[in-house]
Amino acid sequence: MDRYDMEDVVVAPPAECGSPLKEWRLKLQAGTLARSDFIEYFKRESPKYFDYQTGGTETDNNALTREYNLFKCMFKEALAKEEIIDVLVEFMLGDSPASALEKLRLEGNTATVCGKVFKNGEPTYSCRECGVDPTCVLCVNCFKRSAHRFHKYKMSTSGGGGCCDCGDDEAWKKDHYCQLHLANRKNPLESKILTEAVLERAEICFGAILAFCVNYLEIEPNASLQCLEGGNVNDGQLDGAQFCTVLYNDESHTFDQVIQTLTKIAKCRHKDAMEIVAAIDREGRAVVKCDTFKECNDLKTAIENQMIPPSALLSNPRNNQSLRTSVLHIGAVACQQFALQLLGWFQEFLVRHYLFRKTFAELVQRKQEAFCIRHILEYDVKLWKTARTCWHRLLISGMLMEYDNKMVLAQEFSRRYATIVEDFISDDHDHAFSIVSLSVQLFTVPSIAHHLIAHEGIFDKLLHTFYHVAIEKFIQNKTLHFSKNIASLTFFKRANYILYDLRYLLSLKPEVLSNDLRSGFLEGCRALMRVLNVMQGMESITRQTGQHMDYEPEWECAFNLHIKLATTISQVIEWAAGDVKLLRKLYKMSVRALVGNSFIVGAEKSEARSVAGHVANCLMYDVSVKPVSIHLPLTRFYAGIYLHLGAHDMTYDSLQTETEALSSKLTPRGIIEPVLCTHAMIAQVAAGMWRRNGYSLLHQLYFYRNVRCRVEMLDRDIVCLQIGASLMESNEFLIHVLNKFNLIAWAHANYESVLAENPVDDEFMRQLSMIDEFLELLIVIIGERWMPGVSIVTEEDRLRKEIIQLLCTKSYSHSELSRALPDGNGGNSDNIFEDVINTVAVFKKPVGVDSKGVYELKEHLFEEFNVYFYHYTKEDKSKAEELQRERRKAKKQLVCCPPPMLPQLTPAFKSMANILQCNVFLSICTLVMDRALDARSRSFTESHLQKVLHLLGFAIQEELSEHYPFLSFYERSPKYGILEKLEELARCPRLEAHRDFVLWTIKRYKELQAKQAPSDGGAGPSCSQQSAGEEQPLSSEEQASQEKKLRARMVAESRAKIMAQMKSAQKSFMKNHAEMFSASDKESAGEDSSSMATTTTTGAMEWEDIPAETEANVTETNVEDEEEEQGAVALKQNVACLGPERKFYTGSDNNFKCILCFENCAISRSGPPLVSSAFVQTSRVIFTTPQMRASPSALHMSCCGHVMHYSCWQEYYSNEESKEQRRPHRNRVALSPAHNVEFHCPYCRTLSNTVLPVTEALPAFSSASSSSSSDSYLPLDSFAEIMRTQASELAAMKLMELKTLPSVSTILRKSGVVADMALFERSIQLITNPPELHSNYSDVMAFLRKALLNATQSQQPHPKDHPAGTPLDTDSIETVPMLWDTCSYTLQSLEIYLFETQKPLKAELPMRHQSCAINLVRACSRFSASPSLWTNEWQTEFAARLLDTVFNQKGTSVLEWDCFRVLVSFQFGVLNLMAGESGPLTVIPSGSMFDFYILQTMFLAHLTKAVLCFDAAKEQAKRTAETPHAELTQLGYVEQLPTRIRDNMVAFYRRYNIPARVLQRNTQQQLAEERKDEEQVQGQEQTVVIPCEPHHLALLLEYVQRQMSSFLRCACLFYRCLTDVDFPDTFPTDQPDRFELMCQYLGLDAQLGVYFDMETVYATMMHSFASHPHIGREVEERCQPDTVRSLQVEPCLRPLPRLIPLYDDYSDLINSVSDIFCPNNEREEMKTPTMCLICGSILCGQSYCCQPELGKMMVGACTHHAHACGAEVGIFLRIRDCQVVYLGRGKGCFAQPPYLDEYGETDQGLRRGNPLRLCQAAYSRIFLQWLGHGLHEEIARLNDNTNVAVMQWHHM
Ligand SMILES: [Zn+2]
Ligand SMILES: [Zn+2]
Ligand SMILES: [Zn+2]
Ligand SMILES: [Zn+2]
Ligand SMILES: [Zn+2]
Ligand SMILES: [Zn+2]
Ligand SMILES: [Zn+2]
Repeated sequence: MDRYDMEDVVVAPPAECGSPLKEWRLKLQAGTLARSDFIEYFKRESPKYFDYQTGGTETDNNALTREYNLFKCMFKEALAKEEIIDVLVEFMLGDSPASALEKLRLEGNTATVCGKVFKNGEPTYSCRECGVDPTCVLCVNCFKRSAHRFHKYKMSTSGGGGCCDCGDDEAWKKDHYCQLHLANRKNPLESKILTEAVLERAEICFGAILAFCVNYLEIEPNASLQCLEGGNVNDGQLDGAQFCTVLYNDESHTFDQVIQTLTKIAKCRHKDAMEIVAAIDREGRAVVKCDTFKECNDLKTAIENQMIPPSALLSNPRNNQSLRTSVLHIGAVACQQFALQLLGWFQEFLVRHYLFRKTFAELVQRKQEAFCIRHILEYDVKLWKTARTCWHRLLISGMLMEYDNKMVLAQEFSRRYATIVEDFISDDHDHAFSIVSLSVQLFTVPSIAHHLIAHEGIFDKLLHTFYHVAIEKFIQNKTLHFSKNIASLTFFKRANYILYDLRYLLSLKPEVLSNDLRSGFLEGCRALMRVLNVMQGMESITRQTGQHMDYEPEWECAFNLHIKLATTISQVIEWAAGDVKLLRKLYKMSVRALVGNSFIVGAEKSEARSVAGHVANCLMYDVSVKPVSIHLPLTRFYAGIYLHLGAHDMTYDSLQTETEALSSKLTPRGIIEPVLCTHAMIAQVAAGMWRRNGYSLLHQLYFYRNVRCRVEMLDRDIVCLQIGASLMESNEFLIHVLNKFNLIAWAHANYESVLAENPVDDEFMRQLSMIDEFLELLIVIIGERWMPGVSIVTEEDRLRKEIIQLLCTKSYSHSELSRALPDGNGGNSDNIFEDVINTVAVFKKPVGVDSKGVYELKEHLFEEFNVYFYHYTKEDKSKAEELQRERRKAKKQLVCCPPPMLPQLTPAFKSMANILQCNVFLSICTLVMDRALDARSRSFTESHLQKVLHLLGFAIQEELSEHYPFLSFYERSPKYGILEKLEELARCPRLEAHRDFVLWTIKRYKELQAKQAPSDGGAGPSCSQQSAGEEQPLSSEEQASQEKKLRARMVAESRAKIMAQMKSAQKSFMKNHAEMFSASDKESAGEDSSSMATTTTTGAMEWEDIPAETEANVTETNVEDEEEEQGAVALKQNVACLGPERKFYTGSDNNFKCILCFENCAISRSGPPLVSSAFVQTSRVIFTTPQMRASPSALHMSCCGHVMHYSCWQEYYSNEESKEQRRPHRNRVALSPAHNVEFHCPYCRTLSNTVLPVTEALPAFSSASSSSSSDSYLPLDSFAEIMRTQASELAAMKLMELKTLPSVSTILRKSGVVADMALFERSIQLITNPPELHSNYSDVMAFLRKALLNATQSQQPHPKDHPAGTPLDTDSIETVPMLWDTCSYTLQSLEIYLFETQKPLKAELPMRHQSCAINLVRACSRFSASPSLWTNEWQTEFAARLLDTVFNQKGTSVLEWDCFRVLVSFQFGVLNLMAGESGPLTVIPSGSMFDFYILQTMFLAHLTKAVLCFDAAKEQAKRTAETPHAELTQLGYVEQLPTRIRDNMVAFYRRYNIPARVLQRNTQQQLAEERKDEEQVQGQEQTVVIPCEPHHLALLLEYVQRQMSSFLRCACLFYRCLTDVDFPDTFPTDQPDRFELMCQYLGLDAQLGVYFDMETVYATMMHSFASHPHIGREVEERCQPDTVRSLQVEPCLRPLPRLIPLYDDYSDLINSVSDIFCPNNEREEMKTPTMCLICGSILCGQSYCCQPELGKMMVGACTHHAHACGAEVGIFLRIRDCQVVYLGRGKGCFAQPPYLDEYGETDQGLRRGNPLRLCQAAYSRIFLQWLGHGLHEEIARLNDNTNVAVMQWHHM
């Protein structure tokens, strides 16, 4: 409380001179203050904040850019806020406005609704359980505090412009308030701060603001002229640079067109033009030039005159217009900019308090003001985008938060509706940028909607407007005919928004209707009738005969109209259903409309037709020659209304009398006739009679039954026919249908004899098909009654039936299912859907990462399957039928698809059941059965029989249900001999396929018989029936199985017979050839010498052998285990691949088949080289951990391992190359100057861009003797000496410019190593006779090196940034180790990949990994021995540096080394650089003793580094935190070490360990300082001793082992490839690689104590590594915490690369970016925030505002980022639309996002809005794809296989 008072004192600023505050206050006191005072002030001040730069003011003065106009203009908003708006606030609120506002906040915001206006892309939440309709949404803040968070919610992103409905009573069924707004309800409406005086001042200010803004914010404001005439002109003449050319947004020009115009005409730089265009798109306009009036006007004319070709056909009439421009005075532009700012601020200000809004609302309601609501609504169209948005937001904040105000706005809105809609239609801005879009805020509030219908006649007004603006002009002859002109489509689309508004308006049905509401509603319905009336029969079609249609007629318009209107029709019927009066009126209205409409039922003649002794007066409308239409909305509306009559005890008849009074009589025939015609047409189409009418008809029929349309089409039509069937006499009804299908003749018994005279032609086949269609329609009319009103069922039952039928065709995932079901009325069906689905189906959770969860129908519900379900397509039907038959077969039921039980009909439809027993029906059934039994019959197909059986099944089951007392099918059936005929059918062999169905029918019939039996009282039938029941005929299935058994038995018998014969024959054969078999007899044990017996015995022996072997194995492994347990130091014999005890290479298979020419090809030294296609890419995958970000990218190589001849490949490649050149480069952009041509492995299609040579195993080159005595080699210390000497020799070579390599003898002499040449040669494995190579081999290597160079190219800094940097020279110091670095990087990433996928070294590698590693290492090794290297001076320099670094402590220290990388370079780059007696040495590294020493050296270096980096305190802490009670594994070992060695270790640790040294120094310093205080003792400095107990050492050794693991694994992989010695069997395949095993394999001593023995060369080398000066410097720097470290320490164990962790809940992720702004534009939120999954940066993706330059190209922010972050590879998550994008070198693809909903489905584009959760498995799949360097491959694969839309990926 007091805090603010203090501020009051301090803050109050003195009234400055120049501040208008004083003046205003004085005037206020005097009572003379007027709005104009403020307006004048705004007008005067705002130009001061408008700033622009033009012409050559830019520093860039070179000739190239001067041609372009450099132009920038901006409005200094921050300053304007401070100097104008803040002053205004101060005037209103008094001194110290800030504290007043704060107090106001604390007093409590009086708004109980949230009303937060959504920005574009902001997340919104709706509740599926509580939302009144789907437009009810919450903002993040409210959602998080509301109960809906725990309900079934749905999320989406706003398109901008909507507002939060929290606190709106009418938006939610329950939980109306979030916690925040619930609290606000208690707040008082009054305020102590906002006194009368404040409000009075506020009123003046508000009025001034509104007047100012209204006046200025028009595209061509009158105010501009005012500025011209007004005082401002004085300070500059007309030709002064006082004007601006402004360019406006429209939707008919593309970005590129505008950019082109700007660069060409306005002479903007391309980059500036892009910025301007982005601004125009964002804000709706931009200033493009500031100059004199003439200049500006010239530009305007130039732009306007520029002919811009129509961009596309579909666009509005404005299409051909030029860009919209205007010339404004600078003052006017400044005022406009300020007005925008003012409005934005004003909107936020109004939110602060109820009383502000009250004042505002009162002001805008004053009709005489220029800023009254009416004017704001109407002048919207004259504004540009941002200006509109500002006003919309102001209205939302000012008028929508209080109910009364909202009502006022709604009323004004509906009164102006016609005008603003017409404006909107002729305008070209998106709906969201029109004031019309406000309707969703107003019409969705039920009470307001109802008020508007009742009192403003809005329902009528909407439809009237729609009729007037959208369809009136298309009416010809009282019916709609849309023209073929597509341009009208755009306009039509815009008009359709009216129908959306209508939908909002009617979305909530009132409980009770007031008289006003009812009459308002009826008025609207009359307008609706008018619309439906012109739609009845629209786009009618006539059967085309003779020739095809000339053109496909327009049909989409009509369907679009239907789709838009269908919801409204359903809604109207829904409203009527609840109100008797309304229903009665609507019924009459629809009857009148139908009678009045003459489509089809007009003036046609009728004739009598008779079937089975019944006569009907049929309408003679021949569908095959007269027009018919799919569109019968009036009839369907009538059907919809009719369904509800029964619920209110009304009937057709009772209402008939009422309507007759109005002289309009609707006969049942009149009701069904149009629908019948349509269905007859559909049947004819199916029969192939409408082939010449083209595709448009087929499309229409598709949509007729499609889920999006059928609710108000097919479904209603069937109801309509059912109405007819219930109102007419059954026989009459059937005759009508038969007549329409032209089947009267067929229904007569003598049809066959008549037919016999006619030929079998097309016409005849059509007839057969028509019969099928007729029977099927009958099945549908009788069977499809899961419709409330027809049967006693609910909407849920209807949905349930639908779902059951769907699940009978297959298992559906949640999304598929919801797509296959019609949208409920207003989306509320969601809940019903969830309830119903769980009662009928079981959800099967997804099994793999790729699969979705699916629903499966509960088993017992398959009984309800109906194969003739009317929503099935043909495919659905056959699929479902097949499944059903299989299912029944498996369950050993009759294999058929019998009809399901039907629900009971309502009283109104009851008489429909009579069809099933009427004479016409029964005679048709018997006719079909008779014809089926008559083998000569021609007018019969099996499908007729199937359908008749289905119908009979209905009849029997209907009577079984006992719902209808009048049914006496059973009684009548004997007259038609139904049972006899059925039984005859069952016996008929021709109809075997239908036997099961017939049997099923008989079974049901007999059940009926049994039921009827008691009433019969007769014993006869029941008796015969029983006996029949006992010996039921076998089903076809049973018969089949019996036959099968029989057949099987017979086969078995005959086989046995034959076998016996053969055996005897064999025996006689054996006897005859006894000598021949005597030899083999010896082996076989038995006397029985049949060949069979022999094989079995040998088989048995084998089986006996195997256990013995395994036993042996077991004992062996046991022994090993024991040995290991003893901790035996002795190495196992021959498991190592290196060192004195190595195992030797034994040779391998070298034969392949070339995949191109299919010839066998063996590797040979002089033969043609073999290659394998490979892919090289720049990579940073293992450098992406935070510590490694600074590392440059490396090259990674992958290879599929398929072998081909180099020459074969060359041919293939040049082919591919030319293909690539011919391909248009539309979807790929080369970002680097030189790129490798990509091709695919001809065999496996793996993406490739180079080749790797395939060579034989390396040890095959050198003849290594296997003498194992260690005396036969030079020792390690000699090796070190030799290397040291060589370093200086090589360096000297460079200094003295010698061209010859130092000779071995010189080196040996200089290094003082006493040895003979043979010893040396043995140690280095010299190759005396270097193999002759095929001449092509060096070509292969050159090609490979070229590819590597090209690949690095793109990652080089661009020449522009580094003027000196030229493209890499093929021979420079950087490129020397390139191949070897590629090798080490590839192996390192392989090691990490294996580790990550938990594969130990021994596990078998996939071929691509194995062959890649082997080929790469062999290539390196072979390359190192190639003569071109010996003469390369860079090579010698590189080697000299390397040796100096390793052995002489020059250059970097161990801390900075990546030891494995050094190892590989060392291995390949040094040994060949010595000269023997007769020229250079040839050494092919393959595991010689020197190779082993190289490994030992690097092992020691790494060991040293690990010991140096060990941090005892940290390790201890980590250990206690993670595994507090675990024992130190190394403690026992440390304790048993000899004291000498342990002391050495301690000494080494104290002397070199960095943390220990730092600690020691620091404590010492501390001590010294303390001592300084105490006494000045100088001489004796007591040394602090860092503790180092055995457990420290144990910790240290554990640490070291862990830190060396990665190095060792890499080394194992490397030497495995180099020596071709396999990993020993003792390596486990199921556990992580162990330190001692790896050491064993590498020939190293795993006992770490050995290395600390001062007497060995090991310790010497470690000391020398550890005493590098850099390390001392590091210690010093660490002592001072603040100093910048100069050393780039490479960690011993690289942290594993990871993708960034993601939020578990997707909505958290969306929310986290909802406030992120584009880095280039602080005012606008990012449109497409895109997250780099490698480093977590959020980028502004695929947007014109962020287009940085890469090289010379403008690219998207993601491409730019990927170039640096992932070395051209990027994985991005587009957050708003939940999509993963892979990018790679200008290409890209979309990948499955790792977020799934509860049904295991992704939601790309957030269309479904289900809550999404992170799926770790899916995320790790992305991770592994990246880690395995598979993204380029994946991108290529996806772009190759699918017809993906061409994307400009580099703009991503
Ligand atoms: Zn809210
Ligand atoms: Zn709220
Ligand atoms: Zn809820
Ligand atoms: Zn070949
Ligand atoms: Zn391949
Ligand atoms: Zn990144
Ligand atoms: Zn941006």
